[in-house]
Amino acid sequence: VKQEQVRCCHHQDYMITASKEKTRLTADLQRAISNHEFAVYYQPIIDLTNDTIAGAEALVRWHSPTRGLVSPLDFIPVAEDTGMIVDIGKQILLQACTDTKLQIDSGRWPTNFLLHVNMSVRELLHPGYISRVKEILAITQLPAANLTLEITESRLVSQPLLTNQLLGELRDLGIHIAIDDFGTGYSSLAYLTQLQFDALKIDRSFVSQMLDSENHAAIVAAIITMTAKFNADIVAEGVETAEQAAHLKQLGCRYAQGFYYSRPKPLAEWDIGNSANNALQHNTST
Ligand code: C2E
Ligand code: MG
Ligand code: MG
Ligand code: MG
Repeated sequence: VKQEQVRCCHHQDYMITASKEKTRLTADLQRAISNHEFAVYYQPIIDLTNDTIAGAEALVRWHSPTRGLVSPLDFIPVAEDTGMIVDIGKQILLQACTDTKLQIDSGRWPTNFLLHVNMSVRELLHPGYISRVKEILAITQLPAANLTLEITESRLVSQPLLTNQLLGELRDLGIHIAIDDFGTGYSSLAYLTQLQFDALKIDRSFVSQMLDSENHAAIVAAIITMTAKFNADIVAEGVETAEQAAHLKQLGCRYAQGFYYSRPKPLAEWDIGNSANNALQHNTST
């Protein structure tokens, strides 16, 4: 009994500490929004048919004056819970569209460059989200065809009908929708019959085990085949080795992303060709 009491107290201590930290994080994030402490990093998306850079995924980084560089994994969940993701997402989308328009206009990126930006379901369901997206495209003059919004399947659960309607409205604007982290949520296949999407991203967990496990390899192959039948684009996430890239090519996977090609980098470091990136040319056709 004594031991259980001790455990119970530890548990409560932990809960109090965790909730205090969440309160601090919430306050810090609120300041971060006002002070524009967020930066956008870009990770190239490679076209495997010609080994060129076809686009990039925008990934938020938080430069906190007190916490240092904070990973999105450490603050996006709290930002989603509290609704602050709406303001953060607005800053990220504006920055990403502004950057991309400038890169295209200066000829550093091709006119058909694919900019991918993550969108939380919480943002999508926020009233006025779609008019905000429209407004950002109008302000930045980035064509909608350059923009893909990535949505994580596991978080689509709550309101599938409304979600799908809103995704349809975004697609009507000419924006593409990608299903992110495919295969990690539940009811994955059922969602594909209901949701409108233009691209599907195979989760890193399948890609990373593809060469060690026949089951993972089979799933990757099946997702690639299935996505082609949906007439959607396919992106493999988390490619870390040449062997994985070669195997994905063999399976007919069109696009790939991962540390093998490049880590996410600030724009300033992007155009300086280095290491693996030297082998990759920007696709300047059309
Ligand atoms: P995600 O959208 O699935 O993004 C891919 C994540 O995998 C990124 O982590 C990226 O750095 C990482 N990654 C890419 N290639 C590799 C690889 O080869 N190996 C490994 N181990 N990892 C790789 P990051 O930047 O930490 O972002 C984590 C998640 O946070 C994202 O997952 C996304 O769900 C969320 N996130 C990031 N930026 C935003 C944003 O602006 N808005 C929203 N709503 N969510 C965001
Ligand atoms: Mg993503
Ligand atoms: Mg992903
Ligand atoms: Mg994710």
